[in-house]
Amino acid sequence: MTPLEPLPPVTVEGIELVTVRLPLATPLRSAAGTRADRPVLLVHVVARESEGWAECVAEASPTYAPEFVDGASLVLRDHLVPRAWAGPTGDALALGTVLDEVRGHPMAKAALELAVLDAQLRVAGRSLADWLGATATAVPAGAALGLHATADDLLAEADQARAAGAARLRVKIAPGRAVEPLRALRAHVGEATLLQADANGTFRLDEPTHRAELAALDEVGLACLEQPLAPDDLTGSARLARQLATPICLDEPITSLGALEAAVALGACGILCLKPGRVGGWITARALHDRCVELGLPVWTGGMLETGVGRAANLAVAALPGMSLPADLDPRGRFAPDLADPRFPGSDGLVPVPTGPGTGAVPDPAVLADVSVVGCPPG
Ligand code: MG
Repeated sequence: MTPLEPLPPVTVEGIELVTVRLPLATPLRSAAGTRADRPVLLVHVVARESEGWAECVAEASPTYAPEFVDGASLVLRDHLVPRAWAGPTGDALALGTVLDEVRGHPMAKAALELAVLDAQLRVAGRSLADWLGATATAVPAGAALGLHATADDLLAEADQARAAGAARLRVKIAPGRAVEPLRALRAHVGEATLLQADANGTFRLDEPTHRAELAALDEVGLACLEQPLAPDDLTGSARLARQLATPICLDEPITSLGALEAAVALGACGILCLKPGRVGGWITARALHDRCVELGLPVWTGGMLETGVGRAANLAVAALPGMSLPADLDPRGRFAPDLADPRFPGSDGLVPVPTGPGTGAVPDPAVLADVSVVGCPPG
């Protein structure tokens, strides 16, 4: 695809870290536990010409990734924002090189870079989707189903998600709670429904019962099996990929273009779950998308239980031309209240891609009435 077009820099006058705790409409269960609410870290860039907002995808605890909300807030305040102030503060394309002086912390970097980019795009009057080269004006929505104790509970949740417009179902699984629920779900929804499973790295190849479960899952007809093994077990993923017909999807370990190259070279990655907030930002996400297209590697846009603010930004990536599965845009209300319009599917089953300037979303001031704000002044 064509290179990203430089945008006029903005004059940044203030950077704030805003934290708000939002209750989940229904508790969400995964291999890492059950969550009833979500602390959301937002980066707010105040520029002379405009403002920009971005949601950091870090979660409350470092269970999905090493980053977590309090840690991301600290690394932003003490390491990333001071470097931004000392460098090209108001130019997202140049900012990435400066932020890379800090090792790791892609979620924190992504939020700062996107907040600056949002401000620049608002001044330029361009949408994030348009700037990134998105071609779709609306995309199908995929739902993520929690880890359930019984197959009946899973089927009930699947019915809710499909009634709300889900075009595919992604099911959280764990050892001992994978094969029977997914067989029951496949029988319930039929062969035509796109099903995926996400183990969040909970299976081990040196455990015979786990190997047997993974082999049995291969018979369910999944569009992909996401992160069956630990994030650092790339050689194990490569071995498993040779044994299963189901494509192995990698999520957690692909935090950069280099990580993707390594995984692909090993034969460990048959499909990529691309989360812009996990790979260091939307600019890197475009590069990963482009590389997947070059390699002929299927790719789809994952989500991290974002509010409407984060979902709007993810939609810009979900609308890129190389996407091969529906994005994580759960069509059910996750937050009550939400920070912004969560953008549910219309009557055609598709979620419209934002066309307004920037990401197309700003947090509702009423929901931000009682929040923690940390200012990050220059110098
Ligand atoms: Mg995942």
